[in-house]
Amino acid sequence: MAGILSAIKLREAGYGDFTVYEKADRLGGTWRENTYPGLSCDVPSHLYCYSFALNPEWSHLLSPGAEIQAYFEGVARDYDVNSSVRFGDEVVRCEFGEGRWRIATAAGHHDVVDVVIAATGVLHHPKYPDIAGLDSFGGAMFHSARWDHSVPVEGARVGIIGTGSTAVQIVSAIVDQTDSLTLFQRTAQWIMPVLNPAYSSEELEAFRREPQLLEELHAHLSELFDMFSGAVVDAGSAGAKYIEDSCLANLEDNVADPVLREKLRPDYRAACKRLIVSADFYEAIGRPNAEVVTEAITGVEPRGVRTADGRLHELDILVLATGFQVDAFVRPTSVIGRGGVRLDDTWADRPEAYLSISVPRFPNFFMLNGPNGPVGNFSLIGVAELQIAYILQLVERIRAGDATEIAATGDALAAFEAARIEAAKKTVWATGCRSWYLDDRGIPAAWPWPFARFRAEMAEPKWEDYELRG
Ligand SMILES: Cc1cc2nc3c(=O)[nH]c(=O)nc-3n(C[C@H](O)[C@H](O)[C@H](O)COP(=O)(O)OP(=O)(O)OC[C@H]3O[C@@H](n4cnc5c(N)ncnc54)[C@H](O)[C@@H]3O)c2cc1C
Repeated sequence: MAGILSAIKLREAGYGDFTVYEKADRLGGTWRENTYPGLSCDVPSHLYCYSFALNPEWSHLLSPGAEIQAYFEGVARDYDVNSSVRFGDEVVRCEFGEGRWRIATAAGHHDVVDVVIAATGVLHHPKYPDIAGLDSFGGAMFHSARWDHSVPVEGARVGIIGTGSTAVQIVSAIVDQTDSLTLFQRTAQWIMPVLNPAYSSEELEAFRREPQLLEELHAHLSELFDMFSGAVVDAGSAGAKYIEDSCLANLEDNVADPVLREKLRPDYRAACKRLIVSADFYEAIGRPNAEVVTEAITGVEPRGVRTADGRLHELDILVLATGFQVDAFVRPTSVIGRGGVRLDDTWADRPEAYLSISVPRFPNFFMLNGPNGPVGNFSLIGVAELQIAYILQLVERIRAGDATEIAATGDALAAFEAARIEAAKKTVWATGCRSWYLDDRGIPAAWPWPFARFRAEMAEPKWEDYELRG
């Protein structure tokens, strides 16, 4: 998503000499790699698309993953992005020296460039759980981002570890095909009841006929999600209360079995963890062949999963819906900045970047969807579009000859981080749950202000926060 966007925007701004490095043999990132049953975006499709490539063909309010993958590949085709992509080769090293970046790939290819834009993703490296005996499992076992479609779920005894958005989507999609479905739950989740209707042929026809409708819809959804962002960054807001009430009513009204309802009742505030949206999860998990297991997992054995109560849950398939290494940003690529400073060392405690874009002493190295940016239940495409417009303003100074090296100053990063951490304490993410938003200190690693503030920050760089050399 971000790499395709960069190529389009660079060319639009008149930069002809750029390369997109993609280690896989296809574009798509997240949407290429995640193909599990039930995958869809959980942000409305008419918002989860580029603002300059609105799509009248979205089939649903929240469209399936395969459609999103096809959309990205279609946009890349329309904008002739592929001709600028070096496929099937991983960037393993970027080293700065004498005002330029030297890039080395796994295949031994070398390039020298003025600017590096890191668009390497956030939810990219699967995280595997640390469970005794995991590798001894005798059935089929795979991470949700590496779904093995050669293994049929029909009639199988399936276990799923994890209860995030992915697990919820998988449960709803496969429960009726399985012999039994066991969901191993460490933490119950709040579920926002969002229906996901297909667009009617009349609606699709109207979208095709009147592009203005798409623009209005995109703008309207943008406003709604701005309101949502305002709610989650203020734990005491009416919006946060509304989210909580909707989730609570969903649980009370749609889980009839009192024992199951208590198992599914979270003990923390709604939206503290990434809010899950689903119209049918409660119905699915209430099926007679489904079970929620809340006992802790003590180990995996050849025949299944053993829990703390001594029970062995016998399984044919074990799905690890255990998420991603969310602090891996850019790594494992070795990035070496001015004076030999290594990104790995700079980020030894945790990743930090001024406005999530620039790291002091790493000149002309800018990130899309970098650390501590706006994550949560809104469109990362909108985020990346604002960021690339900002980055192009930085790069423009180099093109204009004002400088050969641009990086945020250490003071700017320190001030930004201090303000960010202070604001993060007031967000709903800091109200006492364990989530992937939290860093090693328990501080939400996210943009803690309303989205409008992010938009305003991205409008124009504060040049006093940058060091321009050369
Ligand atoms: C299951 C799932 C559902 C999601 N749903 C939503 C949603 O509803 N709304 C939303 O806003 N976001 C959602 N996301 C987040 C999603 O990751 C982003 O929206 C978006 O797709 C990220 O795009 P990206 O280009 O930044 O990163 P990625 O999609 O991760 O792409 C990064 C690309 O860089 C390549 N790459 C990485 N390192 C190197 C290297 N060293 N050399 C060469 N190539 C490299 C990778 O192969 C990959 O193709 C979801 C994520 C997941 C996993």
